[in-house]
Amino acid sequence: MMKEQDKKYLLDSIRAIKDFPKKGIIFRDITTLLNNKNAFAFLMDHLVEKYQNKELDYIVGIESRGFIFGAALSARLKLPFVPIRKPGKLPFKCIQESYSLEYGTDSIEIHTDAFNDSKNAKVLLIDDLIATGGTAIAAIRLIEKLNAKCIEACFLLELKDLDGAKELAKLTSVYSILEV
Ligand code: AMP
Repeated sequence: MMKEQDKKYLLDSIRAIKDFPKKGIIFRDITTLLNNKNAFAFLMDHLVEKYQNKELDYIVGIESRGFIFGAALSARLKLPFVPIRKPGKLPFKCIQESYSLEYGTDSIEIHTDAFNDSKNAKVLLIDDLIATGGTAIAAIRLIEKLNAKCIEACFLLELKDLDGAKELAKLTSVYSILEV
């Protein structure tokens, strides 16, 4: 667990933008955290400490902000990084999962050889933010379809009002560094 004053420091480094991308949404803009070398390094040191002795096999990041934190953590922990992307972006053979949005559906994909056919590979899933949880739940379904196991889903920020983390917690352990 992170100290309250450290949480406040990180939260203050994230910019909130009203009515983006549409009216009524408060967009949590992590570019200001990334642009602050001390905040970014502090966050990564926290994640390294938390996950270094967890015997993980892979880190999976969700497009696109999950790539930033996931890939940085993979390099620090010397673990392979696996991207989950929007349809049509990954060039090799993929499997796909769909999930519902407020209006309509969306899909994400993973390469079929992402875990090199290893059975029960231990995976950490990372994204910047959990809102409804739809994206992360679909990501876990993709991981499981490839016979790997998501042992924890980690988010920088959880939007508590939306109960996404509660739904996700039925499938895996959930760690949100910050809550708003
Ligand atoms: P969800 O599937 O509803 O949990 O949405 C999570 C995805 O949408 C994450 O990849 C987030 O980056 C993005 N997202 C949702 N709401 C916001 C928000 N208020 N600010 C920034 N990103 C958001």
